[in-house]
Amino acid sequence: MSDVRHPTLRAQAIWGERRAGGTDVMDRLHHGRIAAPIVDLRDVPGLDGVGPAPGGGLRVGSAVRLAELAADERVRAGWPALADAAGGLANPQIRNVATFGGSLLQRTRCAWFRSPDFRCYKAGGTGCPAAGVDHPWHAPLSTGPCVAPHPSTLALALLAFDAKVEIEPRGLIEVAALYGDGMAAGAEHTVTEEELLVAAILPPPRPGAVSGWFRVASRGRAEWPLVEVILHLAPGFARVAVGGMHSVPARVPELEAALLAGAPLDPVVATLAASAPHASTSTRTKFPQLARAVEIVVARLGGVPAALPAPSFAPPAVPAPATPAPRGRR
Ligand SMILES: Cc1cc2nc3c(=O)[nH]c(=O)nc-3n(C[C@H](O)[C@H](O)[C@H](O)COP(=O)(O)OP(=O)(O)OC[C@H]3O[C@@H](n4cnc5c(N)ncnc54)[C@H](O)[C@@H]3O)c2cc1C
Ligand code: SF4
Repeated sequence: MSDVRHPTLRAQAIWGERRAGGTDVMDRLHHGRIAAPIVDLRDVPGLDGVGPAPGGGLRVGSAVRLAELAADERVRAGWPALADAAGGLANPQIRNVATFGGSLLQRTRCAWFRSPDFRCYKAGGTGCPAAGVDHPWHAPLSTGPCVAPHPSTLALALLAFDAKVEIEPRGLIEVAALYGDGMAAGAEHTVTEEELLVAAILPPPRPGAVSGWFRVASRGRAEWPLVEVILHLAPGFARVAVGGMHSVPARVPELEAALLAGAPLDPVVATLAASAPHASTSTRTKFPQLARAVEIVVARLGGVPAALPAPSFAPPAVPAPATPAPRGRR
């Protein structure tokens, strides 16, 4: 844990929506979705920089710009899917302004939420005007009543790399605790207005690990995806984090098991589709897209890394005794 405190904010008890790069906050302000005050984080110390974490890991400050993250040689070498995703989402203008912390804590892009004329769970209301609507953007695997997919691509990278996040004053928490289980429809994450996201801590790279990112989107730039995946594979190890399908960033253990077993993915996604709580005609198309997206990343990575060889201390196989040839046939 770093010793970041924000004395100015705390002493003056200035709580409210934070502004980091402002690319999400200002959009919501213009849509009448934010009431003042907005607390600017630019002068808050301790949120900057990419640097080593204990044990060979990496600490990424919440104020690091996405373009900076994408270009960082340490990130590219040790956690390439994070660099690829940071350098591939949105567009260059946004990536030069938007911060890592803001990308993790941005609010949903659901059109009903962004419109001031609706008041859904996420806008402090008590219902979901999108419920039951057949819309291709909806998240068929959402567990709670909100069917908007979680918007953060980089949250998937944190899940795939088993990262932790540092919240001031709460401490170091798992990514799952940052986002919750999706049952609380009113929020995209668990950070309150009295807390700060300080940094993420990535564990050291695993031996033989590879990682990659792929998305199915209607255009290559400036668009949230229908489905996206981040894979992190190592011998005997698989993480498959999936976007566009859940209301919180989520891994899909069924796909991880299939990759490790070398099993086909279509039956796996068919089973997921059959039990998806919010599957509709449109969102059912996301399941085959998900299978193809995973296959594409695996192919680009050169396949699933082979399992580690058996330990060298295993007893050598004893050759079977030679069977004597039957008499009379020599
Ligand atoms: C055209 C377009 C396409 C996009 N496509 C994608 C995409 O595919 N995937 C994706 O993930 N994103 C996408 N984005 C969203 C973009 O990544 C976010 O708008 C951006 O990352 C937010 O960062 P920011 O620094 O501007 O956050 P801000 O707008 O400043 O803040 C966002 C939220 O985070 C909170 N916050 C920020 N920093 C902290 C902190 N340190 N502690 C506590 N709270 C904090 C704020 O209170 C606010 O609620 C897209 C955006 C655009 C415009
Ligand atoms: S899907 Fe979620 S964000 Fe969209 S209107 Fe419903 S509750 Fe609001």
